[in-house]
Amino acid sequence: MTDPSLYPCFLGPYGENDSLLERLVVEFLRDHVYWRRNVHPEDPPAIPTRAAQQPQFLEFEARLRRELHTLSAALKRSVPFHSPRYMGHMVSDLLLPGLAAQILTLPYNPNNVSEEAAPITIDLEIKAGLQLAGMLGYPADPAQPDCAFGHLTSGGTLANYQALRVALALKSFPVALRAAAPPGVDVPADDWSAFNLAPRAGLGLVDAWQRWLAALAPAKRARWRKRLQAERIEQLGLAAFFTRHPQLSTPVVVAPVTAHYSWSKGMKLLGLGREQLVLVPERGMRLDLQALQTTLQQLRASQRPVLLAVAVLGTTEFGTIDPIHEVVAARERHADAGYGFSVHVDAAWGGYLASLFREPDGRLRTIAGMRSEFNVFPSDGTYAAVAALGRSDSVTVDPHKLGYLPYGTGAYVCRDHRVMALLAEDADYIFGGEGGDDYFSRFRNLGRYIPEGSKSGAAAAAVYVTHRVLPLDHTHFGRLVGETIRSAEAFAARSERFAVEMASLLRVCVPFAPDSNLVCLALNPAGNRDVAAMNVFVGRLHDELRCDSSTPLQMHEFFGSVTTLRPEVLGENDTGRVLNELGLDPATLGNDHEQADRLLILRHTLMNPFLIDAENGISYIDRYFEFLERRVRGLLPVPRASAVA
Ligand SMILES: *Cc1c(COP(=O)(O)O)cnc(C)c1O
Repeated sequence: MTDPSLYPCFLGPYGENDSLLERLVVEFLRDHVYWRRNVHPEDPPAIPTRAAQQPQFLEFEARLRRELHTLSAALKRSVPFHSPRYMGHMVSDLLLPGLAAQILTLPYNPNNVSEEAAPITIDLEIKAGLQLAGMLGYPADPAQPDCAFGHLTSGGTLANYQALRVALALKSFPVALRAAAPPGVDVPADDWSAFNLAPRAGLGLVDAWQRWLAALAPAKRARWRKRLQAERIEQLGLAAFFTRHPQLSTPVVVAPVTAHYSWSKGMKLLGLGREQLVLVPERGMRLDLQALQTTLQQLRASQRPVLLAVAVLGTTEFGTIDPIHEVVAARERHADAGYGFSVHVDAAWGGYLASLFREPDGRLRTIAGMRSEFNVFPSDGTYAAVAALGRSDSVTVDPHKLGYLPYGTGAYVCRDHRVMALLAEDADYIFGGEGGDDYFSRFRNLGRYIPEGSKSGAAAAAVYVTHRVLPLDHTHFGRLVGETIRSAEAFAARSERFAVEMASLLRVCVPFAPDSNLVCLALNPAGNRDVAAMNVFVGRLHDELRCDSSTPLQMHEFFGSVTTLRPEVLGENDTGRVLNELGLDPATLGNDHEQADRLLILRHTLMNPFLIDAENGISYIDRYFEFLERRVRGLLPVPRASAVA
């Protein structure tokens, strides 16, 4: 940690802030007990005080303790996410505010399915959605008619699924409206143009329909509502809907080839089918704009509608950032030509990077101001991508990744909350109650809109409180994100030195310069030309970096992860470049060899805030490279003295 203002934020690698957490936990547990006693203080205690002395009680307590001790002992073999020696997956120490708020809330057990089961935490979830919306650059004032809306999900996977559901509801609504043919609403001329309306125009129709409906007498309104419902894709199912509209076919989702596998899951779950997931090639692990253009043109020429174009902010494997600004621009161009689709940004990993780009008043920072704090971050492309977030239609962001919060918190955020009306589970998805239907009261029935039913209110409290203690701007939460960027820059610089120092033993390359805080490292023993042999070598290194339940944690010096470079994902140019940098023979890369159809590389998530320990003058990044050097020397035969000498 280089920024002392962050010292109180975590329990700490050594548990340094244990007394703070302990005081909070004890204080709020007692507080909860007082609350119980004060609900009806006249009710006497139902469990007698003598119960604790009875044999059954003691027997129960003994069994409970025994099991808890067993659990606690077993958990000592957990992955030490908190340690600055852990650089594996997208997880690190937990922010104290979130941990404390979650522990505080747990015994109240609120269920954020609805206001009735969670009078307090449901509002916190809606507010957490607004906090995230503000960070992303969406309108975040609920008094505005087009305010954004966000809710929590179990994770990024479900948030991406929600994005698919919302996009499908919005895309198909104008077609249903056309079929229902309300006399007071101007609908598109044919099914094709209705299905390919730009998202904003689709929302306009929802609005127009709502206004027309509101002016009708209640009985007539109910009839029209029913009539529209009968035409909707959510009512008919995909098969019947497309049979009724032969001009249309199942829409496709266009995503970069690096997209997370949750997209494949979502396509299957929604019944669209994986076949409809069109993967666009990358260039340098970022969406290839040219390829996107070609794909969209081909799809349009063959009359295939597009549901969603996905851009990734922080790929799971490389932390690279797609040109969101270009994807949004493509959406505008095609919308103007009557080929509308929504843009979703999968920022499950990188969403919180945006906090570093925000002034406390919500404005975007200048790129010059940001660059003065780092070596190269942010690149022009990264800056433009983050700046364009507010123009996307929806975003996935995971508080349980770069938000440093406990698991069970992903988030889906859409730019305009009105689209959510299309998801409402019961028939009054338009004008549920008469009047007084403000932003908060509508979304307090959260269960109507989300994929889940019952869900944790404690998780919502954790997210909200964290964002209050550390607002999502560069002077608060952004400091933490800045720490990770500095670590990544230090890691990248150190890997360059490592490459030079180890040149006689090893070819080293960072296959893709990271945009954020994930850095991969490809290592090939000098002189080796064979892909399979390199993979075996990297596999051995990884064996020592991997947590497994059979070896004590203390036997591992560092913890890392691996990923693979696959030629079908990389494309010809990048594959050739990486093979060349590593000195590998392209002829050894092929499917005939089981282990040789891809390159195994080390992957490092540099989100632990203590990687650079300013207090003790220790860099765990330097130590990691010293460890790597020792291990490499241990694995490789000592090179023979040069014949020339
Ligand atoms: C992690 C991740 C997901 C999935 O999120 P979960 O919280 O694991 O469900 C989706 N997309 C990207 C880019 C991710 O990094």
